[in-house]
Amino acid sequence: LTRRIPKPAADDEIRHLVEAFNEMLARLEEVFRDQQRFVADVSHELRTPLTTLQSTVDLLRRGAFETPEQQAEALTMIASEVARLKRLVDDLMLLVRADAGETLQYEPVELDMLLLDVYRQAKVLARASGKPLEVRLGHEDQAIVRGDRDRLRQLILNLVDNAIKYTPEGRITLSLYREDGWVRLEVEDTGIGIPKEAQPHLFRRFYRVDRARSRELGGTGLGLAIVQWIAEAHGGYVDVESEEGKGSRFIVYLPIWQPSPRDHSGGAEAA
Ligand code: ADP
Repeated sequence: LTRRIPKPAADDEIRHLVEAFNEMLARLEEVFRDQQRFVADVSHELRTPLTTLQSTVDLLRRGAFETPEQQAEALTMIASEVARLKRLVDDLMLLVRADAGETLQYEPVELDMLLLDVYRQAKVLARASGKPLEVRLGHEDQAIVRGDRDRLRQLILNLVDNAIKYTPEGRITLSLYREDGWVRLEVEDTGIGIPKEAQPHLFRRFYRVDRARSRELGGTGLGLAIVQWIAEAHGGYVDVESEEGKGSRFIVYLPIWQPSPRDHSGGAEAA
């Protein structure tokens, strides 16, 4: 009997309750609509390349590609579309796990060491792109964050991957600054840049400035959404500064790890 919801004392209270309830309903509807849109987008993103693959395979089987060069070209196209589809499915699985509230494996991570690691990898990727690109390590402070090493590596790699994709020639610079309680990680390029009006939408799932170009470069349209999720899961955030035709700078802020006095897990300097 005592556990019953107490009867509101005044009409005013009922009105507040109804308002709160309606707000909750509206929010639920919004989540549901977002989810529906996501599923529709995913279906579309999967269907388009599958249709292309299907028709190319059909043409191959009917002998429509006459010369060995034409056949080799068709097979190369098929192989790269399949590779892109696999990346798309991997990215989707990661985001679905994120939506389901996947917990990260936290440990003290020396971000400067991780950046150095990714920098070496970036040099290899830049060379493999066949474009005249120079990858540089700019300013690098030492900094430890409490984070998931694999996810943080992926965050930096996604930004580096974009910098390589969207820079026809020039320079890519990785930097790390430490400033009152925060680490600022920057990936800067001298590439094609991003129009002002597109910048607020970049981190949305499947948003691309130029759909055809992204696809041609093997993009999934999910790289930056994943970057944003990883940054936010670490209590940080991500920002972009860019000028069309000049280049872009992606900036990730992460809180520096402040070990508590009782934390003896080692590796970090005291706060
Ligand atoms: P994608 O797989 O298409 O690269 P992302 O989510 O990683 O998807 O990025 C979304 C879009 O943002 C890209 O399609 C591209 O238009 C733009 N973009 C991202 N990084 C850069 C960059 N460094 N320079 C120019 N444009 C970029």
